[in-house]
Amino acid sequence: RTVLGIESSCDETAAALVTSDRTILAQRIASQDDAHGPYGGVVPEIAARAHAERLAPLIAATLADAGMTLDQVDAIAATAGPGLIGGVMVGLVTAKALAMASDKPLIAVNHLEGHALSPRLADASLQYPYLLLLVSGGHCQILLVEGLGRFRRLATTIDDALGEAFDKSAKVLGLGYPGGPALERLALEGDARKVPLPRPLKGSDEPHFSFAGLKSAVLRAKQSGDYADADIAAAFQQAAIDCLVDRLQRALALAGPVEALVVAGGVAANTAIRSALEALAARQGLPFIAPPLGLCTDNAAMIAWAGLERLERGQSDPLDVAARPRWPLDPAAEAVRGAGV
Ligand code: ATP
Ligand code: MG
Ligand code: FE
Repeated sequence: RTVLGIESSCDETAAALVTSDRTILAQRIASQDDAHGPYGGVVPEIAARAHAERLAPLIAATLADAGMTLDQVDAIAATAGPGLIGGVMVGLVTAKALAMASDKPLIAVNHLEGHALSPRLADASLQYPYLLLLVSGGHCQILLVEGLGRFRRLATTIDDALGEAFDKSAKVLGLGYPGGPALERLALEGDARKVPLPRPLKGSDEPHFSFAGLKSAVLRAKQSGDYADADIAAAFQQAAIDCLVDRLQRALALAGPVEALVVAGGVAANTAIRSALEALAARQGLPFIAPPLGLCTDNAAMIAWAGLERLERGQSDPLDVAARPRWPLDPAAEAVRGAGV
């Protein structure tokens, strides 16, 4: 079966056609980095307008790339949240219109579930349950993925997401937006040992994250004038890696037996982070699975795949399904947010 996936929750407008046997027949991604760059971050109103302009022709082009018409698609899946609500609505309403016009099922996909299942699109051998580090621009969580739609959140960040910390540190170092990939490149030329930076929450019992203090320490290091930018970048990345590895070790001890250690989300595109996690998995005797770089950052293939997993279990959504700015994967964990995290 073939599903058309649509993604518009942040600043990439994307469409993809994916089949049950994990073939990406076609996919297109239009990044809006050029539009948001001058502002140093995503401007929601600009993003929504750009999605509204670009999405329909992008879908048409994706279908043309695959030599398909809408009639040959089995379902239409779109991100229904969480994300910037204007953009989410553009994608979801477009999907509703296509589903209605073609009389095909509509599947409202949680963007985070898209990230969380993307390793299953990349690797057919990945079985539930797996321990997932979900690290993106807006989220930093450790989840026990027990099955489709069955997530147990073991940890989250008590302040910034790691992608946010990468982007803000990159901004401090004058690297522009989006900063993550640029900071990673600069770190290659630096020596992490030259700049002392903190490892927030390292060693604490609960496997939560905190990156605000690390981000502030980067700012102080830069302002001191004592260090080279490349050394600061390398030290930031190394501190982040030390925190991730320490927290994941703790989470693995709490999670019970799992089939694999898995990473997903935009920050999972970072090669140094991938190698550190691969080494951790090897020490724990677990397979390590990470999607290819292009499936880590926002894309529509992961949304189509999450849609396929739902379609194959007979699930779809009504045409009045709502767009959701917030949509936690583990509602139980979200309910205790007031209690600290
Ligand atoms: P969310 O998925 O939480 O809603 P988002 O969709 O904005 O957030 P993604 O597209 O999944 O986030 O990830 C984007 C983030 O990933 C940005 O913060 C970006 O800097 C970061 N990122 C991308 N590539 C790298 C890299 N090579 N190293 C570090 N960070 C990276
Ligand atoms: Mg983006
Ligand atoms: Fe994302």
